[in-house]
Amino acid sequence: MSEQEISLEELSQWLLLYADYISQREGVLTELDAAIGDADHGINMCRGTEQVRRVLTGPSGPTDIATFLRTIAFTLINSIGGAAGPLYGSFFLHAANVAKQITANEALPPVSATELNQPVIGGTVTTSPAASGLQSATIEQIVAMFVGGLKGVKQRGKASMGEKTMIDALEPAILAMQDATENQMDIGTIFLSAEQAAHAGMERTVELVATKGRASYLGERSRGHQDPGATSTYFLFEAAAKIWGK
Ligand code: ADP
Ligand code: MG
Repeated sequence: MSEQEISLEELSQWLLLYADYISQREGVLTELDAAIGDADHGINMCRGTEQVRRVLTGPSGPTDIATFLRTIAFTLINSIGGAAGPLYGSFFLHAANVAKQITANEALPPVSATELNQPVIGGTVTTSPAASGLQSATIEQIVAMFVGGLKGVKQRGKASMGEKTMIDALEPAILAMQDATENQMDIGTIFLSAEQAAHAGMERTVELVATKGRASYLGERSRGHQDPGATSTYFLFEAAAKIWGK
């Protein structure tokens, strides 16, 4: 089963590649945000991912998966700003909480699709350090972390599918991962299916009317434009498919 494992090193490569994508596409994100927001999503995301790059390439990077995810969370929360900062931060913070639970050998929370709309239990990071942190995780554990992350974003933003936000790319991607994992697919297929689902979700935002965030001020006039946050979320899964897909 070792090839069905994801290492801390790979997670780090994933977010470094994401930082590359964001810096290359800062203009695209800013342009999208100029149409339905305030033209800062590219700048915001770039600030966040450059800070992530600094942390991950610095002398004392995180040494286990829970700490890694929590470090990414606080780095993003402290650097992105805008609406997206706390939302991306919530994803990694709640994923870290699940990693922490797994590390402590607690029972895994159920990950059924119907659960996604329920409130997150234990919304803060506990301070008790694990005896020894996870250096790698099974794909099932990674999916559980991402499901936790999705719940965190939904709870934080009080948004659900169809409101023209990052959720429209994030939720389909994570549901696709969950589905492919339950069907015993290999890691490559799992991440490719997540990328496809995120891409389709991102494209669907064009036709949606925004009911959350700054774009909602435009009402009907937000229709016809792709959501910037759904786009930066797609890039996250595009990077994952590049690292783990085949
Ligand atoms: P701001 O809107 O404060 O300028 P950004 O431009 O960085 O922040 O981010 C905008 C993106 O944040 C939107 O495109 C949308 O995807 C996402 N977003 C905004 N509000 C919410 C929310 N309540 N839930 C989920 N995502 C949201
Ligand atoms: Mg903005």
